[in-house]
Amino acid sequence: MADALPCIRCGALLTPYDQAISVYMFAQTVAVSPKQKSDSERIKICPLCSVSLAMGPEPEGPVNVKVYRMLRNLIGPCDQLGEYVWRSLGSGVVVPSEVLPPPRRLSAV
Ligand SMILES: [Zn+2]
Repeated sequence: MADALPCIRCGALLTPYDQAISVYMFAQTVAVSPKQKSDSERIKICPLCSVSLAMGPEPEGPVNVKVYRMLRNLIGPCDQLGEYVWRSLGSGVVVPSEVLPPPRRLSAV
């Protein structure tokens, strides 16, 4: 299948229609003339691995730390990925947003 890539962590095959996070990387020379640039590489991370990595401890290694921080910044405000992961864990699992009670209105005293 064209453009299908495995999750870099678990190996699950991810098509362009599957929810995932893509990380693009390339190398480029600095202060060298003429400027050289490598081919771009793309990795994909499935939602379950993305959330698992982002909620885990900070990894070792500067490149791993950069990716970890990008995942945390991306996943934090993305309710859709979190809900997808909760639902993919199986039936009977309660989605966190369903646990929270409805907001209360403050009454004037
Ligand atoms: Zn995965």
